[in-house]
Amino acid sequence: MKDKYDVLIVGAGPAGSAASIKCVEEGLNTLLVEKGGLGRHKPCAGVLPPVASYVLDELGLHLSDNVLSDPPKLKVFYVPPSGRANGGELRNYFVFNLDRDLFDRWLAEKAVERGVNLQTNTNFITLEQGAQVEAILETKGNIQKVEVEYIVGADGANSKVRRCLKDAPTQKLLTVIQESWEGYGEFEDSFYTILNRKITPTYGYLLKKRGTLLIGTGAKDSKLCVQSLEALKSWLKSMFNFKPNKMIKREVGFLPYGECFIGCGNVMLIGDAAGLCNRFSGEGIRFALESGLTVAESIKDAKSGCQALEIYKMRAQPILDFVEKTANILEEKDDKWREEFVLTELRRSNLW
Ligand SMILES: Cc1cc2nc3c(=O)[nH]c(=O)nc-3n(C[C@H](O)[C@H](O)[C@H](O)COP(=O)(O)OP(=O)(O)OC[C@H]3O[C@@H](n4cnc5c(N)ncnc54)[C@H](O)[C@@H]3O)c2cc1C
Repeated sequence: MKDKYDVLIVGAGPAGSAASIKCVEEGLNTLLVEKGGLGRHKPCAGVLPPVASYVLDELGLHLSDNVLSDPPKLKVFYVPPSGRANGGELRNYFVFNLDRDLFDRWLAEKAVERGVNLQTNTNFITLEQGAQVEAILETKGNIQKVEVEYIVGADGANSKVRRCLKDAPTQKLLTVIQESWEGYGEFEDSFYTILNRKITPTYGYLLKKRGTLLIGTGAKDSKLCVQSLEALKSWLKSMFNFKPNKMIKREVGFLPYGECFIGCGNVMLIGDAAGLCNRFSGEGIRFALESGLTVAESIKDAKSGCQALEIYKMRAQPILDFVEKTANILEEKDDKWREEFVLTELRRSNLW
């Protein structure tokens, strides 16, 4: 026996939940599967730009205070290679400080409220593409076959759906290590973005989360990532008088860092699975939501399986172009470029 749906969405992160909400709104019978439980933990700094709330508006959602951390909003503070004295906050700008676990749970619950069939603890195993797509799922040892018009892979940076597509380029990954510390320092309620090649070829960050300090950095090589994080903490001690007391948690996560690929035939990819992440800042939640919305609208407007992909490609092009622009910036540019970047950003934010 095969279960039949219009759309199968793999992964109940921001991309998958957003896509499923829009699919149901468009009248599509939608199955959303998640290998973890509801509200599974995702290592993430949880910084969301305010523009993302417009995407949530499109889903008929208002960002709930209950999914924000403490402090709920943060200013953005850039620190250039020459140090704190030449850095500063962007004026009249803030980002939301999400509690990522609560945010993802909230979105998935909204999806269920809207009529999405959500199966948790269900692992996508493989697929076979024809006029329809067949997927094999596994829930606590039970195998389930599903036949659908479309599969949407929203299963993150290490996407299995993407790996099932023979034309898909292998995703390169950036390792990100973040630590949560009890401690002190001369830190405001800001998201500190640290740009300094001597510490890391990519970026470092620090922000407050419910009485702790979350510190992280990314690198292509995981050994280098550990060294970068140690260098970042020493630098924070000298620049911000950071005094670490006790490490609460250390976690490792991955960001897509290679080529974007948005699908093939009646299988489409969104969010991290497609590689839609800003390589410069590590920001991906907004693109996950945006691509989720876009794929659902493309499916609704398509007359055939392949046409949906064509429409999705066209509508996702601005996101793809943006991501492309951010590729290699951090590796190719030297500290002089970083210094100028921060200066320009600070000047720009002080214009009005
Ligand atoms: C350390 C770190 C810090 C970050 N900080 C930020 C930040 O501050 N702001 C920001 O915007 N972005 C940040 N990002 C990036 C952001 O987390 C991602 O871009 C975002 O989570 C992408 O959402 P998604 O829905 O595409 O994928 P995910 O959130 O990864 O969700 C994928 C879902 O698919 C499920 N899944 C995977 N495989 C299967 C399978 N086989 N079957 C069923 N389900 C499956 C997973 O369990 C997961 O729930 C950070 C990333 C890292 C690693």
